[in-house]
Amino acid sequence: MGLHQLTSRIYFLEHDPEVDRPMLAYLKGDTFSLAIDAGYSASHVRDFYEAIESEHFRKPDFTVITHWHYDHTFGMHAISGVSIAHDKTNEFLKEQQEREKDPGYIAVLKKEDVHLRKEYCGQDKFHIVLSDVTFSDNMTLNLGGITARIFHTVSPHSEDSVCIYVPEEKVLFLGDATSEDFFHGGYMDRDRLRSLTQMIRSVDCDCCILSHCQPLGKEELLAYLDSILDPTEG
Ligand SMILES: [Zn+2]
Repeated sequence: MGLHQLTSRIYFLEHDPEVDRPMLAYLKGDTFSLAIDAGYSASHVRDFYEAIESEHFRKPDFTVITHWHYDHTFGMHAISGVSIAHDKTNEFLKEQQEREKDPGYIAVLKKEDVHLRKEYCGQDKFHIVLSDVTFSDNMTLNLGGITARIFHTVSPHSEDSVCIYVPEEKVLFLGDATSEDFFHGGYMDRDRLRSLTQMIRSVDCDCCILSHCQPLGKEELLAYLDSILDPTEG
């Protein structure tokens, strides 16, 4: 599996429904490169970096995390360069580090989650780390010819949801922000979804990226979100 090119400077390794791996993106600036999400495991990172190297690109200088969930962060120990996450993401990861001290923790998760069981097949522990850099609201990375505007957003999926907007390419990365909260019984908080939808509508983007889908047009995504918010309309 190689990198797909989305725009002139944005590439991605596709999501993998088989193990529920999210897509990992690569933003190629003139000065720095930025990866979006660290991935599920060391082997996910390895697959991503092999795809990057086969394009003769350098490994990411920075990796920004969209939210704390296993499939986006548990590969963070294996990345190269500097990792960046929201304060709350690190708080959640700290909780995970505490739980990980129980040697039975991975077995419990494997029992609950068929995808995690596949991704960590034959492995008996995680290696959970916190990010090198944290922020509380937003930060901007000038990568050289391309900018990553990283900001926290209200989301029904997780409290620490972070989006990355690339104005030059009109692309908005949303992580899993539009999904329900699987850690609270799959609850969909409609007020939060409404606020997120307003944010998406206000951003000048053509393309929206959800971590477990193919890239979507902005209008296509908004029509879908509106249909969840107002199922009687349309
Ligand atoms: Zn998630």
